[in-house]
Amino acid sequence: MNKMTVKDVKDWKGKRVLVRCDFNVPMKDGVITDENRILGALPTIEYLMNAGAKVVLCSHMGKPHSIFSEEVKLNKKDKAKVEALPAEEQAAAKQAIIEKAKKDDLKKLTLAPVAKRLNELLGGKVTFATDVVGPDAQAKVAACKEGECVLLENLRFHWEEEKKDLEFCKKLASFCDIYVNDAFGTAHRSHASTAAIVEYGLVKTAVCGFLIEKELTVMADSLEHPVRPFVAILGGAKVADKLNVISNLLEKCDTLIIGGGMAYTFLKAQGGTVGTSLVDDEKLGYCKDMIEKAKALGKELLLPVDTVVTKEFPDPIDAPVEIETVCSMHIPDDRMGLDIGEKTRALFAEKIKGAKTVIWNGPMGVFENPVLAAGTVAVAQALADAKGATTIVGGGDSAAACTQLGFADKITHISTGGGASLELFEGKVLPGIACLNEKE
Ligand code: AMP
Repeated sequence: MNKMTVKDVKDWKGKRVLVRCDFNVPMKDGVITDENRILGALPTIEYLMNAGAKVVLCSHMGKPHSIFSEEVKLNKKDKAKVEALPAEEQAAAKQAIIEKAKKDDLKKLTLAPVAKRLNELLGGKVTFATDVVGPDAQAKVAACKEGECVLLENLRFHWEEEKKDLEFCKKLASFCDIYVNDAFGTAHRSHASTAAIVEYGLVKTAVCGFLIEKELTVMADSLEHPVRPFVAILGGAKVADKLNVISNLLEKCDTLIIGGGMAYTFLKAQGGTVGTSLVDDEKLGYCKDMIEKAKALGKELLLPVDTVVTKEFPDPIDAPVEIETVCSMHIPDDRMGLDIGEKTRALFAEKIKGAKTVIWNGPMGVFENPVLAAGTVAVAQALADAKGATTIVGGGDSAAACTQLGFADKITHISTGGGASLELFEGKVLPGIACLNEKE
């Protein structure tokens, strides 16, 4: 890792530090339902507080676009409600719905509950600013003492955050002498607080926190210098979403395993019949190219050999379904593949068992349905059992599966950023990391 970290800055005492965190935690009725992201940010915050810095924390929460969108689109139900009214009442009714959506977003997506929890965790040293760069934030930042923290309100309450507005960046930069990025989950986004504030030259010292340092060290190093055999497993819905990931991983790994909805386009490209399974016909040529590329590079590309099928996609997604298992190359015309079969689970698990480095992104089937979750569970179990191997789960659904199954402490690294880790797997440089100072 050639980027400077908080440890590379020698004197924090009295310095005002803006720390971009990822406090985008799941909430229900104002209650935080999973505080892992808050806990993940603590080592950096505590380090800075103990070193005598004045810490200004910022983060986004959700997507509160209704607050500043000029034209808010109504959902189907509200649209029907408005259209059922007499023409002269429609505009006012629409406006009322929009106003309510804005109010709801402000209430639902405030960072106030995060501030409350942080304050409990950090011994009552955290205050909350009810705006981002407005008078309350300015007053609270000015009053912040050494070893204390201020959390600003949700950055995305301003459209300027995602649009990298220069004036907004200047206001944020006026709160700090040093910038710290510790939000791995948004490091692939080029927004005001994640990259632009540094790219515009508004802060000179920009370093990463412990969370980003850990993510990069484990993931980037494993990709660049893997202990072999190196097995990469990809699943999830669509091939189109992961084109560059497939191509890049094929170059780096020894075996690439493909499961989930992505597998059927590959199976069809090999001459299989896939029934009504998810297929992207436009990507058949791409899949053929990848099969050829694997051969040319001497890499193993493993696809499912048997498939769990149903007559139709479950609706709702967790509704009871009748399943049977068929050969992956011969899925009947009226059947849909929704999970990997038992033989495939054993085959994939065997490969994982023999590996020294394993990375995994994307479920093996429609794991939201308990009847169709066995393939995903089997891969998670195989990673948990892979003794002596570095095992990495790249965020998102596969990370949630490992955590829910209680395997978190048996896996070397579960990333906090699904999108960001996929971009690392693609070989991309993340803007939130590229902008940071290099080590001297
Ligand atoms: P992604 O966001 O690309 O990682 O995709 C995750 C989604 O892929 C999950 O919601 C799964 O239900 C879905 N998925 C996995 N396997 C299949 C499949 N065989 N057919 C349809 N969807 C699938």
